[in-house]
Amino acid sequence: MKDNQPLIIAFDTSCDDTSCAVLQGKKVLSSEVSSQIEIHAPYGGVVPDIARREHERNIPIVFEEALRKAKVSIEDIDYVACTYGPGLAIDLEVGLSFAKELAIKYSKPFIPVNHMEGHLLSGLIENTKGKTVVDMDESNIFPALGLLVSGKHTDLVYVEDIGKYTKLGETLDDAVGEAFDKVARMLNLGYPGGPVICDFAKRGKSGIYTFTVPMKNSKDLNFSYSGIKTAALYKIKELKEPIKEWIYDFTRGFLDAIIESLKIKLELAISKYPSVKSLFVGGGVFNSQEILTKIGNVAREYGLQYIYSEKEYRGDNAGMIGVVAYYKIQNGQYITEVSEIEKIDREPRLSI
Ligand code: ZN
Repeated sequence: MKDNQPLIIAFDTSCDDTSCAVLQGKKVLSSEVSSQIEIHAPYGGVVPDIARREHERNIPIVFEEALRKAKVSIEDIDYVACTYGPGLAIDLEVGLSFAKELAIKYSKPFIPVNHMEGHLLSGLIENTKGKTVVDMDESNIFPALGLLVSGKHTDLVYVEDIGKYTKLGETLDDAVGEAFDKVARMLNLGYPGGPVICDFAKRGKSGIYTFTVPMKNSKDLNFSYSGIKTAALYKIKELKEPIKEWIYDFTRGFLDAIIESLKIKLELAISKYPSVKSLFVGGGVFNSQEILTKIGNVAREYGLQYIYSEKEYRGDNAGMIGVVAYYKIQNGQYITEVSEIEKIDREPRLSI
């Protein structure tokens, strides 16, 4: 089984997914994600306590499954990696304790990973044939920009090289995924909101319902989605009609404004950093084919290489944590001392 690339086992329990993956270098041999969407759906969002209970129940299962599917045993593994932040504190704790215990018990070096770096580098994940989704010459993709859009984050990052990041902008309040969830709840469309809003918008016409594009005229690279959420609430109240045909044009107008806000900030970032060669995207919001394509069009317009992963690695997963670990191993960034591994603590507010 072993070739010259290290075997890595990686974990992520930062939010509501319990994930474990086995990688050989950047190649994902197995990736297990135990989703809790149905458990949290009645609450319209993730309940940290319930998530912790589910993580505790699921982590030994995804661990065994990931090893079994990769056809390796824990003794074969060279490195153990795990997300230590950002995320929900009591949920991060479950994965981190499990991974640290594993590293100590089997005397494996340990690699703590920033979840957002995972999203950022998810486009570098290789499938079992050693291929990334996008053909690229890795020596010619930096400097780059990263756009990370998920239920919890909306970040713009300057990437000088792997491991050298500067955050250029972030959301001042809600993340895009959160705005989707909240508006979907107002419309009784269920949880999570993103997929259903994007789906309804496909059948709607642009320009019937319009929303002010968030932060359109701000000169910085920050985002804000609290205002558009409130605007949506007022419009729904004004309509005073049962939800029916208008919902298609309404979600269309909402989605148009969200996409426009991302495009405006991305174009502003490109104009401020004209030497960038590529755009990395990550986060569950890119599971929308429309958002993935429209942001990709901006990248192409400016001659940037567009780097993204397979759908299964855009949302939370441990494969992306393993890829970050791979690059850290190349730089000698791993911990072997038991006392040092024990000291690693969760950092819920960790930033990239
Ligand atoms: Zn995430």
